[in-house]
Amino acid sequence: LVEVHESLVGILVPKAERIYDAPVFYNPVMALNRDISVLALKVLGSKRVLDALSATGIRGIRYALETSAEEVWLNDINPDAFRLIVENLKLNFSGEPEFREKKVVLRGDKTLVAMNADANRLMNEQFRYFDFVDLDPFGSPMEFLDSALRAVKRRGVLAITATDTGVLCGAYRNACLRKYLAEPIRGELCHEAGLRILTGTLVRYAAKYDLGVEVLLAYYRDHYFRTFLRLRSGAKKADESMKQLGYLYQEPSGRFDYERAFLPSKVKAYGPLWLGPLKSQEFVEELYKLSRDSPLGNAKKTPEFLGLLRDELDIPFHYDTHALTRRHGLEVRKLAGVIEILREKGYKATRTHFSPTALKTDAPFEEVLEALRELQ
Ligand code: SAM
Repeated sequence: LVEVHESLVGILVPKAERIYDAPVFYNPVMALNRDISVLALKVLGSKRVLDALSATGIRGIRYALETSAEEVWLNDINPDAFRLIVENLKLNFSGEPEFREKKVVLRGDKTLVAMNADANRLMNEQFRYFDFVDLDPFGSPMEFLDSALRAVKRRGVLAITATDTGVLCGAYRNACLRKYLAEPIRGELCHEAGLRILTGTLVRYAAKYDLGVEVLLAYYRDHYFRTFLRLRSGAKKADESMKQLGYLYQEPSGRFDYERAFLPSKVKAYGPLWLGPLKSQEFVEELYKLSRDSPLGNAKKTPEFLGLLRDELDIPFHYDTHALTRRHGLEVRKLAGVIEILREKGYKATRTHFSPTALKTDAPFEEVLEALRELQ
């Protein structure tokens, strides 16, 4: 074991050449994911929190140490992970642990519960108990989603990671049909479409329980997707969310179109996917300000990324300048130049976190192409 530090927390992690060889999983690249999650929990002020798939416990321990959460549960099915979670809790908190079989409870000014259970079993037993449920699985979160929707309160928040980007981005189409019941797209729109397919599936699952969804924030980064969803109780709220589902169409020219509908009106359709907002502007502003004023684990990267998300135009889909120039036999030009031309013409245009060479704009396709031509 070696001790690593992240933000305020020091924890023990197994020493390994490659992260996937370790008996218990710890990925330092995910520090930014955990930073944003800590900030989200601070802004939301949730009291009862579940880190359902904990591995070393780093995420739940950060929630307990860095936010006002009063009760944090950490869980992993792997007995080695469970033992490590308990060690890491003892490292970071005082108080006498109460040991029961496969469960350890620590009480101080916070209650910390460590469990060695199947996450689905745990979540089904804790019906509507948590204000905030975090799912951070290997790959797809789908196998845990129904239980999470039962464990969370009807106005609670789900924080969900998906690392199966290959599936959601169309590299493994059949897997996307199986897990997400949606047609994925390949090419320059695949990451945004993948995030919207994931979000759309979460919305359909929530709707079964007469729950609507407000997307507080959904983003793509470092080959994973992450969504923070605030649940809204009631059939009407669920209907409203369902109305934001629809389909994406794309022509060989790079022109895209989308429609909000239960069934697609054209044959070559991608989806169903979420066409509603990917952020609450107010929420992201708050995350940004907090990260700037009180730096966490990734002191530089986190506010930088949140600033990008804050400034991004929140409308469906984007134009990738590299892909467009390729499609039209043009020379690559600087993104900033294209954005400037569109703004001068009175359109809104911003960078997007989905790609460093892409922009979001309310300008029609022809205007984007024309801007690229003007720059040749
Ligand atoms: N949240 C951790 C972090 O931020 O470092 C990483 C979690 S890791 C990606 C996923 C964990 O889920 C693994 O430790 C694995 O043992 C655990 N896991 C897999 N299936 C599970 C199940 N059915 N119930 C509980 N834990 C499970």
